Parts: sequence; C-alpha cells; structure tokens
Amino acid sequence: MTAIPFTSLDGTLIGREIHFFHTQQKNTWYGLGGVDVETPSGSYALNLTGTTRNGQKLVIQRAVMIGKTNYPRVTLHVPEQFVAPSPEQQQQIEQDKTLKSAAFAKGDLLPQWSGNFLMPVEADASDSFGTARVFNGKVASVHRGTDFRVISGTPVRAANDGQVVLANPLFFEGNCVVIDHGEGLKTIYMHLSEIRVRVGDRVKKGQVIALSGGTGRATGPHLHLAARWEGAYLDPTKLLKLRMPAYHGE
Ligand SMILES: [Zn+2]
Repeated sequence: MTAIPFTSLDGTLIGREIHFFHTQQKNTWYGLGGVDVETPSGSYALNLTGTTRNGQKLVIQRAVMIGKTNYPRVTLHVPEQFVAPSPEQQQQIEQDKTLKSAAFAKGDLLPQWSGNFLMPVEADASDSFGTARVFNGKVASVHRGTDFRVISGTPVRAANDGQVVLANPLFFEGNCVVIDHGEGLKTIYMHLSEIRVRVGDRVKKGQVIALSGGTGRATGPHLHLAARWEGAYLDPTKLLKLRMPAYHGE
C-alpha cells in the first residue's frame, strides 16, 4: 500500500480530538485516544482528516467497536466527613474544583511523553478500575483509576515525561500530583503522604515525584493512579501496557 504523504492529520473519536504527530524515522503518524469508563458499548466513528502536500483534504472514517465490561460493585467505609462534608469542607471542595479545572485545562498538544509508560510504584495493579463504590452505604461513585496497594512512604515515580500542573492537598484526593504528558493526556497520583515536585516542574519518566500515603478519602494507604485524556478517564492498566513510540519533536 502506498502511504499518502500528509502534511497534517487530525482525528475525532466520540466528540474528542485526537492530536496526531509524525515521526520521520518510521514515516508514521501517531495519535493517542481512549474511551471513558462510562461510555456505553456500541459502534462509534473515528473520523480522520488529512491534508496532502498540495492542500487537498482527505476524510477517512472507520468504525470503532466498544465492547461491554461488567464492573463489580464494592462497599467501603471512610470517615463520615467524606460522605457528609461540613460547610467549611464543602468550601474547600469548591476551591479544589477551581484548582482542578485549571490543571485539566488544555495543555501542550504535542507529546511530552516518550516511549512506554512506566508503573509508578513497584507493586501489582489491583483490578479496581470501573468498580461502582458505595461509601458508608450512602454515596455511590465510579472508581476512575487503579489502586496500587503499597505502604505509606513508598516512592512514587512519574509514569512518563511531562510537566507538573497540580501539586496540592485536596479534600477527596488528599495530597495530589497531576502531570501533563501532552496530547491531552494527564496522569494523576492521589492520597500521597509527601509531594516532592512543584507546579511548573518538568519531570522525567521514573523520577520520584512523591511518597505514597493514605491522605484524603482513602480506606488505608495506597496509590491511586488515574489517566485522563481530553476529560475522559481511561483505564491506567491499559495505558501502562501500550507499546508507545519514542518522540523526539520531529
Ligand atoms: Zn482509588
């Protein structure tokens, strides 16, 4: 098959933009996209628009099948303040929302990551993504991340290169770090006992960014890792298994 020499390539999947980049080495376009945990199963359109060297636009559409998964329901017990926050705590929750929306605002569209994503701690990932959780028999929420069972004080490493866009104590998340990896992808590390980076820091894959803990709404010490792409929460264990190309800013 003859490759079409595009000068740009854009894509959309379920209302979200996929940002492609080109590697000279393999003459390949790469884009990173995902599906939110709450997306109903079915067939969805992946729309690609490429611009050729002579300015012609080519539109390609492919069907993407989203399969069904049955996530279990779990019952958890946390201190009462996390299901019935006081007015002061509700105020903090509101302030946290402002901080988080600033951190989750559009970042660098080019990849800042390079190559495969790394496990943030040396522990097996639990099968906790997508579970429906009932806290103290009251609040139900979907678990939008993966928990790693590690003792407090375990070094937590950046899953890939990127820039720190949040490094703050938050009410539910506890001490929390968010890294922007570019292309709309961010990783989030929660319930930390100690934060070792600041907003604006550029971090390298494998760099220790924090120590794990049990701060915020946690039933005990563990690391909660979330992967957010264009506002969608992806399964971090899937991201950790992807074989990713190196990116050198070509
Ligand atoms: Zn968790």
